[in-house]
Amino acid sequence: MFQFKNCEELLKLCAEQKTDISQIAIKYEMEISGKSRAKVRDKMKQVRDTMWEAIQTGIKATDKSQYGLVGGDAKKVYDGTKNMANLLGSKVGVRAMAYALATNEQNARMGKIVAFPTAGGSGVVPGVLFSTFEHMKSSKRKMLNALFAASALGIAILEHGGTFSAAKAGCQAEVGIGTAMAAAGVTEMRGGTPEQCINAAALALKNMLGLACDPLGGLVEVPCVKRNAIYVNVALGASDLSLLGVVSVIPMDQVVEAMMNISAHMSETIRETALGGLAVTKKGLELRKKMGLPPIPEKYLNRKIGAAPACRNKCNGCG
Ligand code: SF4
Repeated sequence: MFQFKNCEELLKLCAEQKTDISQIAIKYEMEISGKSRAKVRDKMKQVRDTMWEAIQTGIKATDKSQYGLVGGDAKKVYDGTKNMANLLGSKVGVRAMAYALATNEQNARMGKIVAFPTAGGSGVVPGVLFSTFEHMKSSKRKMLNALFAASALGIAILEHGGTFSAAKAGCQAEVGIGTAMAAAGVTEMRGGTPEQCINAAALALKNMLGLACDPLGGLVEVPCVKRNAIYVNVALGASDLSLLGVVSVIPMDQVVEAMMNISAHMSETIRETALGGLAVTKKGLELRKKMGLPPIPEKYLNRKIGAAPACRNKCNGCG
């Protein structure tokens, strides 16, 4: 039996079988689909190839999305990697941003992408994995295994009561989980143990808790496209921290529980409704009007928070 209900059980299976997360994911898929190992791997090869095609198209394209909010940034960033002396980031990180932008811009152009875990959060996994694959001159087998490891993490999150739905839990559940999956996958690609992979995911996701879903006009464009690019750095950083021995105090399953706890407190205005956050900024409303979308009811605008309760921490952050 290769089914698991959470990350703890996934790690237990890895320990019992003395194997990596990816190998458990392959066996899990064989078990639930009844397909051979070769067929399961072939299916993931299709996923990998579709991701790569989206990246290759996206880094060359300059055309805008239907509403003109995004498009052309992937090419700018990819071209920028040809002269790294001007940049502060590493080549693997900047190229990962270009690849994430490419994927999400293709999504905004209604091109073909892999919703991994969702369309809005589709850039982080391919961005991180393909850029690291090139950087490490890794094998195709390791690349495929990294995708399986990332998938296993997504399954464990859902089985543990998590969600990929921004309507339920905001962007922490889309780009947040995409980033956690990327952190786990890239850590396996780099030779990390199953514990280090799951720990990298925990380090990533716990620092994205509470992330609002607030897309302008309800389109998966702003902030979605650039958000994927920015968060590849979190996945890469979490992987580095994990491989350097930094351990998340809160285990991954409990980070998922925290994500769901926070989602229960999130206003519906920042859960995919485009009624809060960036969507109702002056610029957001101006663009909404230009797009010909109906105005947002007054009650959602200029919302103020009540008085904050007395803070017992002495960090001076409350002013
Ligand atoms: S802001 Fe909302 S629509 Fe955009 S990527 Fe995040 S969850 Fe998806």
